[in-house]
Amino acid sequence: MTKISSLHARQVLDSRGNPTIEVECTLDDNSFGRAAVPSGASTGSHEAVELRDEDPEIYAGKSVLKAVENVNDTIASALEGKVIEDQTLIDYALIDLDGTEQKSKLGANAMLGVSMAVARARASSESVALFESLAKQAGRKSPTLLPVPLMNVINGGKHADSGLAFQECMLVPTEFTSFSEALRAGVETFHVLKKILAKQGYTTAVGDEGGFAPRVENSQEAFNFLLQAIEDAGYAGKIKLAIDAAASEFFVDGVYHVDNATFSSSELVEYYKNLCSQYPLISIEDSHSEDDWDGFAHMMQDLGRTVQLVGDDLLVTNTERIKIAIEKKAANSVLIKLNQIGTVTETIEAIKLAQDNGMTAIVSHRSGETEDTFIAHLAVALETGQIKTGSLSRSDRVAKYNQLLRIEERLQTRARYQSSL
Ligand code: PGA
Ligand code: ZN
Repeated sequence: MTKISSLHARQVLDSRGNPTIEVECTLDDNSFGRAAVPSGASTGSHEAVELRDEDPEIYAGKSVLKAVENVNDTIASALEGKVIEDQTLIDYALIDLDGTEQKSKLGANAMLGVSMAVARARASSESVALFESLAKQAGRKSPTLLPVPLMNVINGGKHADSGLAFQECMLVPTEFTSFSEALRAGVETFHVLKKILAKQGYTTAVGDEGGFAPRVENSQEAFNFLLQAIEDAGYAGKIKLAIDAAASEFFVDGVYHVDNATFSSSELVEYYKNLCSQYPLISIEDSHSEDDWDGFAHMMQDLGRTVQLVGDDLLVTNTERIKIAIEKKAANSVLIKLNQIGTVTETIEAIKLAQDNGMTAIVSHRSGETEDTFIAHLAVALETGQIKTGSLSRSDRVAKYNQLLRIEERLQTRARYQSSL
């Protein structure tokens, strides 16, 4: 039996230059694990609580020293000496210690940092890769499926000042036989897109997730650029499109504001239907605001058979909300973000619930990321078949792709790549 001998947290910086928490776990066999916690900008109101110090004099209120202290004092005292073979025991001890509905006492950022660091230390103790250890925790044997990346190459919404209502316009390389070939196609398209934008006088500076943020008039203009880039790069028909509308952000006073027009909930469904008839749009995330269950159900009725309809702010990686979505037939896919729920165990439970009910699961980064590559391992471990980890530039995004390349190489001929879209 291997036990935790020490837990230590510190404040570090995320990709936006905001403080976040990093946790280190050392075991009594000297195995070691470190993990850093990401942070969202378009956060859902039903997410677990990210504890920030709110002192305007320090890091504009964003320091996380209280969360750091919670790890170094309360959590370390409670968990040091605990056996780590079963991640659920660690995570449920954290949940009990916090005792609140939304993890507001210890902070989901403090709890997740510990949960991920313990998972990493255990993998090291078992002398296996993190994805292999996570697969074992989830009751899966020898995962071999690499995820299809949803690559966010045009950023809008809260992640850029492009003026585009939709937060993310993504490339989805479905028609490839390996992850590395799919990644190469995405990268080549990204560079062609840059040239097209520059030639037409648009800025090629990148937004929070490494995608371009051109001042386009509307989503159609963004999609036209993407299709042009796909064609010019030689991948017509092989790369499809996806969006994260992040509609909670443009739902104001009971109506949806999209590209200089306003829509009711059901008018917005028609708008999406029209887009799907014009473009190879195969996945739409957060089409409606986070509590507009009827809008989501309406989408499912009209588009659910042919389009992946993803709940992010709607479902917040929370099994209670995923159960409601199953009952109401409000989504056929769940976006999975570890820090929306706050522990590795609950994240795995959310993925399994989705998979057991015929929904797809997409493991996702946050717009504020770090060099941590935990999500690359998680996507392979649970064979979710899809990952969303930003554009093809910026080290915080590319780190996850690079980790997937390493996993693909490790799996050699056993590595599989196949689109579930
Ligand atoms: P966030 O954006 O990390 O800012 O919430 C990502 C997303 O909405 O999918
Ligand atoms: Zn989203």
